[in-house]
Amino acid sequence: MTNQSNKIAIVTGASRGIGAAIAERLAKDGFTVVINYAGSQAEAEALAARIEAAGGRALSAKADVSDPDAVRRMFDAAETAFGGVDVMVNNAGIMQLSSIADADDASFDRMIAVNLKGTFNGLREAARRLRNGGRIVNFSTSVVGLKLENYGVYAATKAAVETMTAILSKELRGRNITVNAVAPGPTATDLFLSGKSPELIERMSRMAPLERLGQPADIAGTVAFLAGPDGGWINGQVLRANGGIV
Ligand code: NAP
Repeated sequence: MTNQSNKIAIVTGASRGIGAAIAERLAKDGFTVVINYAGSQAEAEALAARIEAAGGRALSAKADVSDPDAVRRMFDAAETAFGGVDVMVNNAGIMQLSSIADADDASFDRMIAVNLKGTFNGLREAARRLRNGGRIVNFSTSVVGLKLENYGVYAATKAAVETMTAILSKELRGRNITVNAVAPGPTATDLFLSGKSPELIERMSRMAPLERLGQPADIAGTVAFLAGPDGGWINGQVLRANGGIV
């Protein structure tokens, strides 16, 4: 465990899945964590209570990341409660799969709104307000490399996130803030598992040479590395955490 006891981290989409594992891991590493969620209030509050019971500090904060005012208010709440923000993890995301031929406008617009605009909203606030020496971690996907059928719109939103990651890392020159992206492969959360047959899940589990699905804790460890002292020289990069699938 690294001691980050004076540092504050916001994790978006932290009520469930990968984000919840990130919040738990960063809290264990000594960060004070802001657990953002959109709808799952009970899960977010239960996670905050678990972290506090284990001796950590946590606050749950409702904000739809696609709403710039809501993201601003979340930063305000973090600054009011804890005095500043050091780490921004833009993890919140949604995935609706279909071929490009069959994609509907509502699903296209929603993925752009949450994955791309939502990450932008977090990045803009972080760029303006993160304390010097801070860390930003965005979320892409290994499908940007794999280029699987039916992932066209989803992967396109994440490719845009990768591009903003590299550009923001340069724009923050002089403030000692790193900006990176983590690009998981198939990881055992609702986002990956829901709507897939057991056979498809089994087949996708075996695609990586390590022959298993990623677990949320695998990805949380990757984020903890980038947010912690050992990750300080990594900047402007996309780190694929996927067991070697691509
Ligand atoms: P998940 O299990 O579906 O959890 C998604 C989380 O995001 C939930 O906490 C949800 O909050 C939150 N969220 C959704 N829309 C939001 C919004 N508009 N504003 C704020 N929060 C919102 O997903 P996951 O698998 O953990 O995915 C986390 C990230 O990893 C995503 O960016 C995803 O694209 C990426 N990723 C996942 C995989 C995978 O295989 N799982 C692979 C590659 C990349 P509520 O509970 O309140 O709805």
